[in-house]
Amino acid sequence: MRLLLVEDDEMIGEPVIAAMRQAGYAVDWARDGREAELSLHHDVYDLVLLDLGLPKADGIALLGSYRRRGGTAPVLVITARDGIESRIAGLDAGADDYLIKPFDLAELAARARALLRRRSGRSSPFYSHGDLMLDPASREATLNGAPLVLAPREFSLLQTLVEDPTRIYSRAELADKLYGWGEEISSNAIEVHVHALRRKLGADEIVTVRGVGYRLKRRQ
Ligand code: CA
Repeated sequence: MRLLLVEDDEMIGEPVIAAMRQAGYAVDWARDGREAELSLHHDVYDLVLLDLGLPKADGIALLGSYRRRGGTAPVLVITARDGIESRIAGLDAGADDYLIKPFDLAELAARARALLRRRSGRSSPFYSHGDLMLDPASREATLNGAPLVLAPREFSLLQTLVEDPTRIYSRAELADKLYGWGEEISSNAIEVHVHALRRKLGADEIVTVRGVGYRLKRRQ
């Protein structure tokens, strides 16, 4: 899961980045409106955390233009306590939820999970595919009820595949989901993660679609 944080205040941004990376997201940080605008043109994000008071652009205007271009990622607005008007304007411009500063990082992570759940049309907090089950809150996975020991990026890759099990993901798309700006990625990183997952899940659980990418094995 790839997340964009738009926030100019380092005192807020730094702990958010650390907490969301810890929670397994690939996180990019745009520190002003211009950077946010450029970032949002790459439609790779699963979730956007948007501060409304920004240098070089207004957060609500940014959100409005993102939605008008057809941007579909859930957007969680971060606002000041006295910003009731901007919260309403943000929701009406296409935000999905908001948090008031200062906020608790565990609550932010839980709201992010809820928004992603809604986006994928699930009502269950768990991801499941046949006998495979993933809990995004604890980041624990089981196969046939037996725990799977997965590295953080293995969990994230599997979560991406399980979220839409019929979809074929190219290696580039998977790399976009798993690695943020400036994170080192080797040319065969995705193959290495897939190989590790196949060893843990069974070789046929992740199917290679030649010339296209990967998807999960079909289940009845
Ligand atoms: Ca601000």
